Amino acid sequence: MSSSATPANVAVEVNRTAHAFSRAQLEGVMTKRFFYNQAFEIYGGVAGLYDYGPMGAALQANIISAWRNHFILEEEMLELDTTIMTPYDVLKTSGHVDKFADWMCKDTKTGEIFRADHLLEGVLEARLKGDEEARAAEGDATTQKQEVPAEKGDDKKVRKKKVKAQAVKLDPTVKAEYENILAQIDNYSGPELGAFMKKYDVRAPESGNEVGEPVQFNLMFETQIGPTGGLKGYLRPETAQGHFVNFSRLLEFNSGRVPFASAHIGKSFRNEISPRAGLLRVREFTMAEIEHFVDPLEKEHTRFDEVANVELAFLPKDVQQAGQTTLVTKTIGEAVSSGMVDNQTLGYFLARINLFLLKIGIEPSRLRFRQHMANEMAHYASDCWDAEIHTSYGWIECVGCADRSAYDLTVHAKKTKKDLVVQKVLKEPKVYEKWVANIDRKSLGPKFKKDAKAVEEAITALEQEQLESLSSALKNGPTKVPGTEYEISSDLVTVELKSIRETVREFTPNVIEPSFGLGRIFYALLEHSFWAREKDAGQGVLSLNPLVAPIKVLVVPISANASLAPLVKDISARLRKEGIASRVDDSSATIGRRYARNDELGTPFALTLDFASLQNGTMTLRERDTTGQLIGSIEDVVKTIKGLCEGSISWQDAEGTLKKYSGEQAL
Ligand code: AMP
Repeated sequence: MSSSATPANVAVEVNRTAHAFSRAQLEGVMTKRFFYNQAFEIYGGVAGLYDYGPMGAALQANIISAWRNHFILEEEMLELDTTIMTPYDVLKTSGHVDKFADWMCKDTKTGEIFRADHLLEGVLEARLKGDEEARAAEGDATTQKQEVPAEKGDDKKVRKKKVKAQAVKLDPTVKAEYENILAQIDNYSGPELGAFMKKYDVRAPESGNEVGEPVQFNLMFETQIGPTGGLKGYLRPETAQGHFVNFSRLLEFNSGRVPFASAHIGKSFRNEISPRAGLLRVREFTMAEIEHFVDPLEKEHTRFDEVANVELAFLPKDVQQAGQTTLVTKTIGEAVSSGMVDNQTLGYFLARINLFLLKIGIEPSRLRFRQHMANEMAHYASDCWDAEIHTSYGWIECVGCADRSAYDLTVHAKKTKKDLVVQKVLKEPKVYEKWVANIDRKSLGPKFKKDAKAVEEAITALEQEQLESLSSALKNGPTKVPGTEYEISSDLVTVELKSIRETVREFTPNVIEPSFGLGRIFYALLEHSFWAREKDAGQGVLSLNPLVAPIKVLVVPISANASLAPLVKDISARLRKEGIASRVDDSSATIGRRYARNDELGTPFALTLDFASLQNGTMTLRERDTTGQLIGSIEDVVKTIKGLCEGSISWQDAEGTLKKYSGEQAL
């Protein structure tokens, strides 16, 4: 449902819920006005690939610009632009080659492929819906269909989910079990999903055939780098690794100090098993990711006070594990102090994410923060919350915010043998004793020849207790390096207890990662902004706020009369000079039609130029949602528009400075 909430800059209450939200109507407008479109449409399209047209590209660019201002500029983050092509070694080390996979299962007869969790979810939801219908109809067993709209170009074997909801009453215990499973559907492994499918006889929805055991499918697109095929690689599934492999340079750029954050906006690729749900699950998408590097012992955030009172709607893991979905609303300050959110830095980012999403126009009542349950957490994360936005497809994860601990830097450092650490000068030097092995390399080399390096590595890898016992053993004559067959003597190696004075602390920073899927935010914003005029259900309005609207002002000459042309040119030039994106509509359509077209494009304001403009130097200003109109001198109206677009004044303020225009402009 679209909201009845009114944007801050609109004084008059507008009824945005007179008609139920229609996804088909929104999609129709999106296609007609070329916001986005299935890619390669003239070739039949490819599932999970979309092109953005002029309106979509501008809307996305404005969301990105708002994101850069809100995060990168506000917090002095270090922006990166790293390569999409990523060598095998990097993603093997990060764990993606082995673990970046979803569970899929096959129709045992037709070979049709399903994502296992989605299949189970779809079937159980349909059965619950059928139960609801059966109870409502009290035994009137009408069969209803719950269909996800068809998408052109789906892979041959990966077809649409079509789950029929049959009006059949469920046993109350079974119903409770279904609800419990659905509340934690993301928490299950493949074998667990398989067991549920067997237990509840979940079958392929269209054929009714049994489905096989879930198997893992890696989501990365594989490729070869270079002509010889010698270097295996992947299209990156996230931008994060680009930050980690450049960590040393970033640290140096930041004068060796943490905390600091790097940020990256760019494309990522995932070979989704069965992409449906339009822009929400695609195979190529734009991500905006932040990696905030922090001392693991100091996860407080210096700017936490600024957000401590921001209220968020939380769905914590214990609530989900109890099979519930009740939200807990509290300030981020309370959430961190009660331990529900692990630390201040993670909490700081949750609040900043919330503020960003509201700023661009996401409806507050349709935004929640859901904590990952233990099994669901990515292989690297130690605590994770998703910003989920409600759409006609249900609650959708749009931003993941994870504490990745020291995982990534540790594994890359181990693999590359490069120090990915921070050195911090200690306030008080640390003094302690330590067993240290002194190796006489000049003697070790000739004695062990090709094995000399291995012997040295084995000695250096010894733990403190092993070194202590080696020290005593060497005093009694030659002995073996613990855990090896290499025999050493005290002329080659001595071990002594040394007094150590440390002035610096060396540590691998922890990483807090907010990861935004811009396409999902883009689509959710469209749904939250779209509604139909009370008087005309067919007339859609896209209430995008001026910050993100592709075009801010429509310039409408009242007629095609040539005498208006110079003024139109002049007004457009003035708007350009003020940095306000505008568009002239001098088509022959009626003025009402021209307004209506721009309501669908989300253009918040329209300037109408008529003969009075030529004579008196006035023009009228129309606000999209209320359709209210004001009139004033060209100078004053341009000034007002600038204020409205920058958000420094509201429409109510504008009503105070410009006169109400009463001339009838029929829609
Ligand atoms: P993840 O790394 O899986 O937590 O994903 C980070 C963000 O990327 C998610 O919060 C989504 O907004 C977005 N995302 C992930 N997969 C897709 C997809 N297939 N299509 C569109 N957006 C996606």
